[in-house]
Amino acid sequence: MNKGLLSVDEALAQLLAGAAPVSGIEDVPALEASGRVLARAQRSTMDVPPMDNSSMDGYAVRASESVAGARLKVGQKIMAGSVGKPLEPGSAARIFTGAPMPPGADAVVIQEETEVQGEFVSLKKKASPGDWVRYVGSDIRKGSEILPAGKRLAPQDTGLAASVGIKTLPVYRKVRLGLFFTGDELVMPGEPLAPGRIYNSNRFTLRGLAHAFDCEVRDYGIVPDSLEATREVLRRAARECDLIVTSGGVSVGEADYVKPAVEAEGRLLMWRIAMKPGRPLAFGRIGDAAFIGLPGNPVSSFVTFLIFVRPFLLRTQGLRHVEPKAIAARADFDWREPDARQEFLRAKWNAQGGLELYPTQDSAVLTSTAWADGLVDNPAAHPIRKGELVRFLPYAELLR
Ligand code: AMP
Ligand code: MG
Repeated sequence: MNKGLLSVDEALAQLLAGAAPVSGIEDVPALEASGRVLARAQRSTMDVPPMDNSSMDGYAVRASESVAGARLKVGQKIMAGSVGKPLEPGSAARIFTGAPMPPGADAVVIQEETEVQGEFVSLKKKASPGDWVRYVGSDIRKGSEILPAGKRLAPQDTGLAASVGIKTLPVYRKVRLGLFFTGDELVMPGEPLAPGRIYNSNRFTLRGLAHAFDCEVRDYGIVPDSLEATREVLRRAARECDLIVTSGGVSVGEADYVKPAVEAEGRLLMWRIAMKPGRPLAFGRIGDAAFIGLPGNPVSSFVTFLIFVRPFLLRTQGLRHVEPKAIAARADFDWREPDARQEFLRAKWNAQGGLELYPTQDSAVLTSTAWADGLVDNPAAHPIRKGELVRFLPYAELLR
């Protein structure tokens, strides 16, 4: 049925075999590192918390003295940021969240379980060693790895780095992603739409995707359907970019110049992939730049970007894990006439926590991609029955 077509997995494996992280590494302030990809694992040079401290507002005590009804003299007050004196026998220290435990104390009685009488505090309950104490190193041990190499730094990762005193982080330099759009029919919004013309919607979709993945974008705009024009922009893009992604011109029509242009300037593999939407995909190299040519069809270019360009780009950015996390989700629809190729169906969550399909899955209907919350990854020739669990790739996963 799919003779001569490559499966999605085969194509992905071949593509990723040709992907390597950019070589440049730069140190950036941790305050600006969120969204960047960490180039070297980070270890902590200290314990966190750096000292035993109280996790609540209350009284630091010796558990052995702190039976229910015990009356202890409040000998000192310890705020976060200050250091207490050794705890006198028979006494308690007023203590606040985050303040260091005074030497000799081994428990905190929370203020709700005490009664204050002048200089004394009496306990309503007995305390046990360790109550409401956060121990030194209980979160992070000195010397332990806190962040692995090849991770895109989330805001909380930079916070974690800061919590052990790290000021700058080594990250891969940003990937320079070149984009251009082939097609004599294309015009930009704002220009008159002459008969036979269409708007260059892919420029918006692909630019948005490039930004979502934190690339440095070089956008060469619309390139006419001519071999010379296509070769020229390819040469320039290959000098200026790590990865060139194009839309259109990779079919086998008369006006499809991407294939011969890449062959003339570099090397090209043309794949026909057993997927819907999609099918034609070009992969190659021009000088030091990688090249991926996407189909011009707006749904196809969007989906093939997410399925192929995304993992390739993430690898180039230095990410170790590029596989999107799929969810097993309930289909609240029937899909009776599956294609012989693997399908990526535009679907959306309903109020019952199941998935609905966009009524038309035609690959020219861009509306479906905007309406959807993600893609159902349906195996080749697999009919879906209502209630069945399907493999769902939420946009939230595919866009990171
Ligand atoms: P192609 O891959 O060049 O044969 O184009 C396939 C279909 O996608 C044709 O209907 C094109 O008009 C359309 N198309 C190509 N490029 C774009 C684009 N940048 N924006 C919107 N539609 C496009
Ligand atoms: Mg075209």
